[in-house]
Amino acid sequence: MRGIPPQRPHIRLHDVFKNMKDILRRLKLERGTIYKHAKYRVGLLKPSNYFLSMSSLGLQVIYRLFNEADDFCAQRAFLPDDPENEHTILCYESRTPLANMDIIAISIAYELEIPDLMRCFKCIGLSPFAAQRDINAPLVLIGGPLSFSNMETLRDVADCMILGEGEGLIEKFCDVYRRHPHKSLFLDAAPKEIPEVWTPRTSHLIPPCRFVDKSVLPATSQIITPETEFGDMFMIESERGCHRRCKFCVMRREETAGMRLVPADTVCALTPRDIKKVGLVGAAVSDHPELLDMVGRLVADGHTVSLSSLRTDRISEPLIDLLAQSGLKTLTIAADGPTEALRKMLTKDVSEEQLMRAAQIARERNMAVKLYVMIGLPGETDEDMDEFARFVIEGFSGLRLSLGVSPFVSKRHTPLDQLPFAGIKVVENRLKRLSQKLRGKAEIRSVSAKWAFIEHAFAQGGPEMAHIAYEAVNNGGKFSDWKRALLKAGKNVE
Ligand code: SF4
Repeated sequence: MRGIPPQRPHIRLHDVFKNMKDILRRLKLERGTIYKHAKYRVGLLKPSNYFLSMSSLGLQVIYRLFNEADDFCAQRAFLPDDPENEHTILCYESRTPLANMDIIAISIAYELEIPDLMRCFKCIGLSPFAAQRDINAPLVLIGGPLSFSNMETLRDVADCMILGEGEGLIEKFCDVYRRHPHKSLFLDAAPKEIPEVWTPRTSHLIPPCRFVDKSVLPATSQIITPETEFGDMFMIESERGCHRRCKFCVMRREETAGMRLVPADTVCALTPRDIKKVGLVGAAVSDHPELLDMVGRLVADGHTVSLSSLRTDRISEPLIDLLAQSGLKTLTIAADGPTEALRKMLTKDVSEEQLMRAAQIARERNMAVKLYVMIGLPGETDEDMDEFARFVIEGFSGLRLSLGVSPFVSKRHTPLDQLPFAGIKVVENRLKRLSQKLRGKAEIRSVSAKWAFIEHAFAQGGPEMAHIAYEAVNNGGKFSDWKRALLKAGKNVE
């Protein structure tokens, strides 16, 4: 008996075979997979599908760190491709059911992965809530990038949590676990021996987010696979964190350890010669002072290089030429605020002039442009949409332009924390206004106002949000199900 199981879907043999076939096919295509038997087995769960999850460098780092401990083995598990018809989740390396592992280590990137985490618990037949799980159920450890903003939503789900960057802690975690493999003893010992670990059921004191020294960098890919967004790419972290101060961002330097650089020599030396595609990863990769040299050397070595982000004020013609040589066809930039005044309010150092210069560089190279912007910002008006549309028409004329629009969601640990959501109707109306003005000039892709509203409820919410998510997902997961669950919990829905 493993606690009160949630509703289990009906088992269909066809789905079981298809799932197994997909796993075996994907394993065959992978390079770097670690197959290992060990006394303690960790199921490393990413509540997103395989295709998205395998581009997560953080997941690959935790996989390697657990496998480095002699008596531990880590095996990956993902949200099934069709979670509604899945009756279990198998760990890829051994096809063991995730529920049979000693530890389930979950990596959460952002708020809207929490509903999928609830779907995963439903598939494996375990209650998502620690208090309802049997003492013999696997220990549930949660960490990941969400911990930079708000992990309190998962307070009732986790047996223990690691807030912040995991390097150096996994070794300590394994050490305490091997001396106290029984869950209750481990949960007693862990916070005493590792102050950075939070055990919500025994301590209400949330430890501060942890940041590592640059000496442990860079993180690099362990597994290369063609079946992911960045297929067959070797990812290497050329820097971690950010030295800028955008007020909406959880990576801003005041709240983190700032930017930690990896020298170009190290990046070039660690990049395997026989892998063509290289991805330089980091929150502010283009701010690396040796970037041009680093990309130039990698390209000269026969690699194609892509960057995880490109700041508009760091765009230069030689850099774009190197990236174009590597196959870059679309220049992706972020304005974030629709007008100069709103960007100033966000402390986003991007000027109209810089955006127009980036557009010109793309135009001269026949590149498409992807421009990101947020709407529903504090102090924003309908007229700001008109001003932005005017600027886009003027500055980006003659380009294939796609506009990525996201409603603003205020996050904890930022100066814009606690700001309310602009309102679903307000955001939808502004989006409509923008779309009308830019018809035929740009292809607009937007995050739905309704889902941004739910993301805001998570970002600003507490442990009740996990219970709301569980109910909404169990009732079907449509917006109407969320609305009902939020209203029942006494939350405002508009
Ligand atoms: S938005 Fe980008 S540039 Fe600004 S603080 Fe965050 S990571 Fe840095």
